Amino acid sequence: MNFDLIVVGEGVAGLTCAGHAARAGLKVATFESTLFGGLVLNVNELDGYPGQESGTNLASELMTASAEAGVTSIQEEVSAIRPAGAAFEVVTGSGDKYGARQVVFASGARLKKLGVPGEDEFEGRGVSHCADCDAPMYMNEEAIVVGGGDSAMQEALVLAKFCSKVRVVHRGDRLRAQKHLAEQAGANPKISILWRTTVDAILGGKMVEKVRVRDAGDKTEEIPCAGVFAYIGLEPNAAFAPSGISRDTGGQLVTDDALETAMKGIWAIGAVRAGYSGLLTDAAAEGERAAQAVRERLK
Ligand code: NAP
Repeated sequence: MNFDLIVVGEGVAGLTCAGHAARAGLKVATFESTLFGGLVLNVNELDGYPGQESGTNLASELMTASAEAGVTSIQEEVSAIRPAGAAFEVVTGSGDKYGARQVVFASGARLKKLGVPGEDEFEGRGVSHCADCDAPMYMNEEAIVVGGGDSAMQEALVLAKFCSKVRVVHRGDRLRAQKHLAEQAGANPKISILWRTTVDAILGGKMVEKVRVRDAGDKTEEIPCAGVFAYIGLEPNAAFAPSGISRDTGGQLVTDDALETAMKGIWAIGAVRAGYSGLLTDAAAEGERAAQAVRERLK
């Protein structure tokens, strides 16, 4: 099957882009290997997204709007994208092939792992990636959050509504988080920060029982906790992007100011793109801009 535009990823950027392009008259398909919505599904209380309160609501509204605009949603993982004459061939994990005159990468990013002993072993048994989903399971328990960015602060604040104590383990001596989130966390009596400290191991029996942390003086300590939530940044879902597209040091796809990659006709938006701000409003704005640019290109 052939499309004017194939958008890889049904997160906020991808769904916004697909909806705009379809409303402008293009034949559009989106590809998604997991659940539509992307990382925003993990956020119950959206910070700074006008008119929306929860990530799930926002994702549902965008998905509905995309379907109403006539976008074809294909639940398949994309494994390769290859130039094919003046267009592209999009190949799925199951070997199906689709044609696209233009391609937008909106495949987002996933949470980085700590890479310490116990992390995989206790997955789902105290190691969680979604405070918004799992916080009520830690009612009156102690939790550890790792990281010093917006996600760590936002999720520590969510956990503090349920947990008796939330310790933020941060490798640095200052937070990277936006001021308002850092201030809210600092003012919350249940949240404390262990500065210049890292997690060495996650320990327990059937469930997580404690973490071993290491401070700047190389002193280790075991801290009891029932939950461990690591928010140490994101890594882009870009493995299947053609090698002709340059990446930055973090693996994100490099574009020009118009959001086009070095391969003409392939665009990148949102968290997979180098230079993305991390703000949801910018993900949506990039989606809209890419849709307009693709429409202009195909005129
Ligand atoms: P981030 O901004 O990249 O912060 C990652 C944090 O983890 C940093 O404090 C970093 O420490 C620490 N870190 C990195 N690697 C580590 C390691 N191996 N071990 C221990 N600590 C490590 O990631 P994020 O907080 O997930 O945010 C990602 C993007 O989404 C950002 O652009 C952010 O602004 C955005 N975001 C926005 C909101 C909002 O607007 N409300 C909410 C969530 C996320 P250093 O500081 O020492 O480098």
